[in-house]
Amino acid sequence: MERKNAWLGYGARELKAVDQLAERYKKFISECKTERECVVRAIELAGQKGYKPLEQFVKAGKKLKAGDKIYAHIMGKSLVLFNIGRKPLEEGMTILGAHIDSPRLDLKPNPLYEDNDFVLLDTHYYGGVKKYQWVTLPMALHGTVAFKDGTVRNVVIGEDPSDPVVGVTDLLIHLAKDQMEKKGSVVIEGEDLDIMIGSRPVKGAEKEKELVKKNVLSILKDKYGMDEEDFISAEFEVVPAGPARDMGLDRSMIMGYGHDDRICAYTSLEAFLETDKLDKTGVCLLVDKEEIGSVGATGMHSRFFENCVAELINLCGSYSELTLKRAMSSSRMLSSDVSAGFDPTYASAFEKKNAAYLGRGLCFNKYTGARGKSGSNDAPAEYVAALRSILDENKVSWQISELGKVDQGGGGTIAYILANYGMEVIDSGIAVLNMHAPYEIASKADIYEAVKGYKAFLRNA
Ligand code: MN
Ligand code: MN
Repeated sequence: MERKNAWLGYGARELKAVDQLAERYKKFISECKTERECVVRAIELAGQKGYKPLEQFVKAGKKLKAGDKIYAHIMGKSLVLFNIGRKPLEEGMTILGAHIDSPRLDLKPNPLYEDNDFVLLDTHYYGGVKKYQWVTLPMALHGTVAFKDGTVRNVVIGEDPSDPVVGVTDLLIHLAKDQMEKKGSVVIEGEDLDIMIGSRPVKGAEKEKELVKKNVLSILKDKYGMDEEDFISAEFEVVPAGPARDMGLDRSMIMGYGHDDRICAYTSLEAFLETDKLDKTGVCLLVDKEEIGSVGATGMHSRFFENCVAELINLCGSYSELTLKRAMSSSRMLSSDVSAGFDPTYASAFEKKNAAYLGRGLCFNKYTGARGKSGSNDAPAEYVAALRSILDENKVSWQISELGKVDQGGGGTIAYILANYGMEVIDSGIAVLNMHAPYEIASKADIYEAVKGYKAFLRNA
């Protein structure tokens, strides 16, 4: 079942809309490279559309009504938005979900050291990465420093064109005889991903040791009020520096850091904020920690979302555990995450009939998983049929795929976690190339079709 390329269906008006959306998306991923930055921006955008914090509703204690717009975040890392529908919550919600954490290098709690007149920061990589891809690139530091006095400070170094950048070195080819013999998984090892941040000793203290480190520490103190010990209560993420760019002579694609999964997060958010007057309560869930198993207070396994729904039901004056269970189990969800786009250079990893193709629209995966679908949510045929009908009626370009050839590997998403409530969930999203590399590639047409598809889902599912 070959699907048509979405570009073929666009007239001048739609081409303009595709480009305008691509510009908004590029701005978002260029400026929001951590889960915290995504939450802050999403709250800003939601605020412009009249969304208010859940605590405000709880405090006022007023009964919720259709059209109320509510958001809640947990620890600044995961966010949920609700647009209250005309029907009671126990008749179910329509949920758009995506994750806002991306693979990267995190600083260790004691990261700083000096070695032969260089100062480096030790890292622990986050998520599944081909480590050899993360060397010799201009990188930026995005951090949050929590001080003992309770103040919290955000630090971004390397994004402004006038900023310095940092980065991981690699061995010159001339001396790489031994390295080039190694297996791909160990060409660069985890402990080799250290970030070089300085090489200039402080003058006038020549009797002391570690003068380069001393210099870097005085810069950190002057600019950010940070002492070395403050790294202990800081979260620094090291990410590729600079903005996302158009890719291709035809500008049909975007190359940038963190498409996985901000491309689904942004499109879900935009579709959600532009859709009003819903029958069923609409939800947009943007969550942290997917890349490391959705664990912890801010991952999808946390009770955060369920607790927020409980608060809403309570605000409707009808709280009971049963109502909550009914609200969850009668919901429908598009769990959006990037899909593996077919790459002609690596065609042998894909099964062509069931691959996702850039430009052929919003992508669905009935199941994900690995080695015999293990660990996967498998969307029921009846739900797939209902979605086919909604998408076709609303002229959305879409495709259905698997994540590569059977037994080539696999992957998971947050879909199975929500499915535990008994709701209907399917994996959907946008196909990318270079998934989990510092720079990933996606099609502008797919971004546009995703927003269209998400809007149709919120209105009709
Ligand atoms: Mn993902
Ligand atoms: Mn991923």
